[in-house]
Amino acid sequence: MDDICPKCGLPKNLCICEQIAKEQQKIKIRVDHRRFRKTVTLVSGLGKDVDIEGLTKQLKKNLACGGTAKNGVIVLQGDHRKKVKALLLEQGFKEELIED
Ligand SMILES: [Zn+2]
Repeated sequence: MDDICPKCGLPKNLCICEQIAKEQQKIKIRVDHRRFRKTVTLVSGLGKDVDIEGLTKQLKKNLACGGTAKNGVIVLQGDHRKKVKALLLEQGFKEELIED
């Protein structure tokens, strides 16, 4: 059996739940300076319909940095504010909903 989206009941390849979620998410990108001079970029506000694990993987690959997803927040090592925004736009998120 094909994967069916539990939300809309359509096969996963036809499901647009994630796309809709991306168009409605208010995302916040901020840079945090942690102890020991570690700088991280935090991406928060991603809804539960967004594949956060997949997005984290993609961002890490594109930015060539380490990172994790925890409690719906993506934490990337280093200051990647500008690049993260550009990558999120590529992923279908809306510019007017991204706060940075
Ligand atoms: Zn769906």
